[in-house]
Amino acid sequence: MACILKDFPKKFLNSIGKNLYQNVDLRQYSNFQIGGMANFLFEASSIKQLVEAVRLAKKHSCPFYIIGGGYNILFDDDGFRGLIIKNCAKGIKHTSEKSVEVDSGVTLKEFLKFCLERELSGMEFLAGIPGTIGGAVYGNAGAFGKDIGSFLEKATLLDDKGERITVSQSYFAFGYRYSILKRTQQAVLKSSFTLVKEGQEKIKEKIENNLEARRKKHPPLSLPCCGSYFKNPVLPSGKKVAAAVLLEQVGAKNLRVGGAAVYKGHANFIYNTGGATAKDVLQLASKLKERVKERFGVVLEKEVIFLPAISQ
Ligand SMILES: Cc1cc2nc3c(=O)[nH]c(=O)nc-3n(C[C@H](O)[C@H](O)[C@H](O)COP(=O)(O)OP(=O)(O)OC[C@H]3O[C@@H](n4cnc5c(N)ncnc54)[C@H](O)[C@@H]3O)c2cc1C
Repeated sequence: MACILKDFPKKFLNSIGKNLYQNVDLRQYSNFQIGGMANFLFEASSIKQLVEAVRLAKKHSCPFYIIGGGYNILFDDDGFRGLIIKNCAKGIKHTSEKSVEVDSGVTLKEFLKFCLERELSGMEFLAGIPGTIGGAVYGNAGAFGKDIGSFLEKATLLDDKGERITVSQSYFAFGYRYSILKRTQQAVLKSSFTLVKEGQEKIKEKIENNLEARRKKHPPLSLPCCGSYFKNPVLPSGKKVAAAVLLEQVGAKNLRVGGAAVYKGHANFIYNTGGATAKDVLQLASKLKERVKERFGVVLEKEVIFLPAISQ
C-alpha cells in the first residue's frame, strides 16, 4: 500500500501545502467515540483541498474515506489503513432569489441559520439532525416525513476519475435513507437547494416546534451514539413500522454487550456507555436483529455505517 510508505505525508505537504495528521485516534471523529488508529487524517478546509486530497490518494493508490461530522459512522477497532479525509469546506452562497449553493462540509445547523437569515423556508425539518450537507445527501437524511433529497436541485460530485461532474436531482435515485452515492461512493462537493420565501418568525417557529418534538423522543446530542441504528422496516403486510416499536417488544432496552447498550428512552439507539468497542456495538446489533427476525420475521437493515479497517 503506497500511502503507508514514509514519504506519503511529504508528498502530500508538497502538493497541498498543508500537513496530514499521522497515527490518529479515530474516537474523536465519530460521535460513537469508538475506533482505532488511522494511518493518516486530513482536514480539508476547502473544496479545492478536498479534491486535491482525493486525487493525491488515488494517484498513490492510498485507500481513503471521506467523513463529515461522524454522526452516522462506526469506525473499526482496528482503525483505518489509509487516509481519512474530514470535510470542513464551509462555503455557502445565495445564488438566486430562492436557491442556495452549499459546500458539502457546511453543517445542517449552519445551513439552517443561513436560510433563516435570508428568509428562506423548507429545510426546517433538518433542525436537530447533526452532521454535514455531504453526509445528509449521501444518506438522504430526513425527519417528519421529509428528506433533504426532495429539495436538492443539482450537485457537483467528484467522479471515479477524480473529475468534477454536475448532476441533477434524478441522478441520486433518492429513497428512504438512500442515494446512489451508497453504490458509487462519489464525493459530494457542492449542492444547490430550492427553497421558498417566508417570514423569519414563521421559520423560527417551525424550527422550534421540530426541536421540541425531537427533544421528547431523541437522546441529547451529548450521548455517544450515531442516531437510529436500524432503518424502519416494511412488514410482510406492506405496512411501514418504526424499528423502535419492534425492538421494544423484544426487550431491546435491557440489552447490552460490553460497553454498548440500548438507550432506555428509545429502543433504536445503541450508545457507548464508556469504553465500548466496535465489536460490542456490532454484536449487540446482531443480537437485536436476530430477536426481531425470530419474533416478527422482519430483517432489520442497519442505518449506521460501519467502516472496516481495510477497505474492500
Ligand atoms: C442524536 C442523533 C440524531 C439523529 N437523527 C437523525 C434524523 O432524524 N434523521 C437522519 O436522517 N439522521 C439522523 N441522525 C444521523 C446523522 O445525523 C445523519 O446520518 C447525518 O446526515 C450524518 O452526517 P455526517 O456529516 O455526520 O456524516 P458522517 O457520519 O461523517 O458520514 C456518513 C456517511 O456519509 C458519507 N459522506 C460524508 N460526507 C460526504 C461527502 N461530502 N460526499 C460523499 N459522501 C459523504 C461518509 O462517507 C459516510 O459513508 C442522527 C444522529 C444522531 C447522533
